[in-house]
Amino acid sequence: MISNLFYKKYFDYYRIKSNVSERSLQRLLKYTAENIDYYRYLENDTLSISKFPVVNKEIYRKTGLDSFVTKENKNKGIVRRTSGSTGSPTKIYIDKFTLASQLFHRNKFFNLHDLSLGMSEARFWSRGKSIFYGTNNIKNILLNRKLINDLDFFGSESQCYKNLYTLFNVIYFYGYPSLILKAANFFENEKSRPCPKKIITTAEVLTSHDKNHIENVFNCPVIQEYGCSEVDIIAFQCKCNSYHLNPRLYIELEEVSGSGHEIIVTDLDNYYMPIIRYKMGDIVKLNDTQCSCGIPGRTISSICGRTSDRFIVLRDGSEIHVSAISSIINASNKYDSKISKFRIDHINLDLIDIKIEGNFNHENKLYLNKELISKLNHLLNDKITITITFSEIDNSIKHNYFKKLF
Ligand SMILES: [Zn+2]
Repeated sequence: MISNLFYKKYFDYYRIKSNVSERSLQRLLKYTAENIDYYRYLENDTLSISKFPVVNKEIYRKTGLDSFVTKENKNKGIVRRTSGSTGSPTKIYIDKFTLASQLFHRNKFFNLHDLSLGMSEARFWSRGKSIFYGTNNIKNILLNRKLINDLDFFGSESQCYKNLYTLFNVIYFYGYPSLILKAANFFENEKSRPCPKKIITTAEVLTSHDKNHIENVFNCPVIQEYGCSEVDIIAFQCKCNSYHLNPRLYIELEEVSGSGHEIIVTDLDNYYMPIIRYKMGDIVKLNDTQCSCGIPGRTISSICGRTSDRFIVLRDGSEIHVSAISSIINASNKYDSKISKFRIDHINLDLIDIKIEGNFNHENKLYLNKELISKLNHLLNDKITITITFSEIDNSIKHNYFKKLF
């Protein structure tokens, strides 16, 4: 099968290149201080991770990525666009080895649940289908996955059933819990239901009520993944529902009084663009004791702050996942990163206001206004009024890019 050949190539590449002693934190820090402009002032200092500054998306964006990328093998980085949960679009680069390591560890986590990459998958994903439909479609066929998005839930019952029929032919579901929940609500009253072996949710936190509902409808366990585009999986639930930290990352847990711990990650594999002490703004709660599944190390009991209520509701009752809108905003920002933050305010059934913060001149504003409104009207079939407001956006510990105000 083509997908198995694809993954085997990367797993073999990881095994050949991986060397535990080489992958130490010290080696990464030394390399970074000597080769990456932003950290060059640390070159002659004692290399301890605490000397490295904490970074975030805002710092990457303001400083410019050139200061964070190695000068070696220029142009060989793989781009990862970060968008989804924060409303501060930027991109980072990884190299081929980091991708191999990410896939290798993803597969290890999947193995805990008797799954492996390459098995047939239904991917519940929003962005992509409408914008990059052609390329993603080929990729999805090669990787043995079927894409389900918010458009598949719109229309008559028989049309939805036809769209979702593919769910009967896959081994597992993967993706946004808000979309998987829609599938559960649809099949709840159907006589025959898909029977996936497992369901893996990511990107949004699932409430225990919704989790139970999905498990009951599809009669299989739901496992939650916690990660981000910058470093892929940060932690993954085992069969005991504890999140185990990904061993390819160095993770610091900074106590936030009264709330839990804030996650700070260092990617031990990425030498193309070293990601060191990176904060996403996520607060987690830790377990006090070792997990009974037998895997050593500290575990997380819950991730706070992300929501699964992420649908734009239109007057005719149809719904569109908000990430389809954030994708269009990010695409407009592709060539010059002038948008530093955005927030989508869903005011009522007739109005969405998109607040945009950044460094714009008059022409930029006119261009963005025209471009965004035209693309969003196309996406939303002119069913809702869209306004664009250029203004500063309040910063919170986790900048939530979607607000529903009714
Ligand atoms: Zn465990």
